[in-house]
Amino acid sequence: MPAADTIAAIATAPGRGGVGVVRVSGKSLAALAAALTSKQLEPRRATLATFCAANGAPIDQGLALFFPAPNSFTGEDVLELHGHGGNAVMQLLLQRCIELGSRLAEPGEFTRRAFLNDKLDLAQAESVADLIDAASVEAARSAARSLVGEFSRLIDALVGGLIDLRMHVEACIDFPEEEIDPADRMAIRSKLESIQHRLTSVMAEARQGAVLRDGLTVALIGRPNVGKSSLLNCLAGEEVAIVTPIAGTTRDQVRATITIEGVPVHLIDTAGLRPTDDPVEQIGIERTWQAVEKAGAALLISEAGEAVGENEARIVQQLPESLPLAWVYNKIDLYGIKPSLARDARHTSVRLSARTGEGIDLLRHWLLETAGWQPQGEGVFMARTRHVNALEAAREHLGRAAAEQDRWELLAEELRLAQANLASITGEFTPDDLLGQIFSRFCIGK
Ligand code: GDP
Repeated sequence: MPAADTIAAIATAPGRGGVGVVRVSGKSLAALAAALTSKQLEPRRATLATFCAANGAPIDQGLALFFPAPNSFTGEDVLELHGHGGNAVMQLLLQRCIELGSRLAEPGEFTRRAFLNDKLDLAQAESVADLIDAASVEAARSAARSLVGEFSRLIDALVGGLIDLRMHVEACIDFPEEEIDPADRMAIRSKLESIQHRLTSVMAEARQGAVLRDGLTVALIGRPNVGKSSLLNCLAGEEVAIVTPIAGTTRDQVRATITIEGVPVHLIDTAGLRPTDDPVEQIGIERTWQAVEKAGAALLISEAGEAVGENEARIVQQLPESLPLAWVYNKIDLYGIKPSLARDARHTSVRLSARTGEGIDLLRHWLLETAGWQPQGEGVFMARTRHVNALEAAREHLGRAAAEQDRWELLAEELRLAQANLASITGEFTPDDLLGQIFSRFCIGK
């Protein structure tokens, strides 16, 4: 029977579907596979089998796939049971795997094992979750690029360059200052500059990836009937025809997410922000304010010919000063006004019509610009804020290294720190609690 740390989970999404998959991973699964299927499974070969309960009664009929270690996703023995995609039948199959000595997998545990067994580096493991969560085609494409290792290769190349540079510097440390060959000095400078240059370009791409993943959170302010819903639908255009509510997540103040050129735009509804004595409502208001304070932009929407409501004006006054704000004057078609975008020191004004679509592009453009998105070709790979921060820290250490002229020990130390930051991206030196945080956000079965 399998070792105690054999894990099992339903890998497919709950609900009805043609096929459902239960996945098992552990140190030695041949006996479990034989007990379940009454067959000796050939490695990596799909075998039609009847999956049976302990008393021999059939649970389902489907395909069994056995991947002996180390040639599997997790690097351990992996058994996949492809049955029929119904909740009850999948539960029975999972239950049977547990009877046979598995335990229920925790979120992300399969991918965590793949990482620990060197099947994926950390950036690739994270991109598995990003690919599953991708809210747009562009986000999915860039997560796939990270998954196949494009991002990791760039990071590895930077680390490789740093190791070479550090060896060069360490060799010089052993000599008195006057004995260091000027040619060595020059070579070290030029290697350092080249790494700084490459890091800057990786950072630009990683920032774009982070925008694609995290998007922009926008607080939406406006009286009823000024055209907020119409505006959202118009902004989303054909990419997402309907707004998709996100229910039950920690972002429960977010009313909807739309995508603009693949960039997710999360909208926080501020309709509930009004003076009240009701303590329950006050809690809700407090939470909405917390979300608004973390937002990346705000839209104040009013009807072109009408004044902004009192409540809305009060909300705008309370917004953090640094929050980019656009005053949107909607329904210009009713007043014969031309679409326009104007900026002054405090905010941007956009005149548009959600009905005719005039001026929508101006607002779309402003939102993308505020998110930090620069439309570009295929170069973007998925990156997380964690990665951008590590790149930023590495860049700072390289900057300090470059400022060190003669203190070789300090220069060497800055290079070491830059390397450690870069290596944390692919997970070479990543503390356990960070790993726990990363993998706990995965779905079960992945
Ligand atoms: P919300 O309550 O702010 O979400 O407003 P809605 O999007 O439901 O719009 C309120 C009404 O205004 C609806 O009848 C819309 O058809 C209309 N409306 C919205 N935008 C425009 C616009 O740009 N021009 C005109 N003429 N009507 C609009």
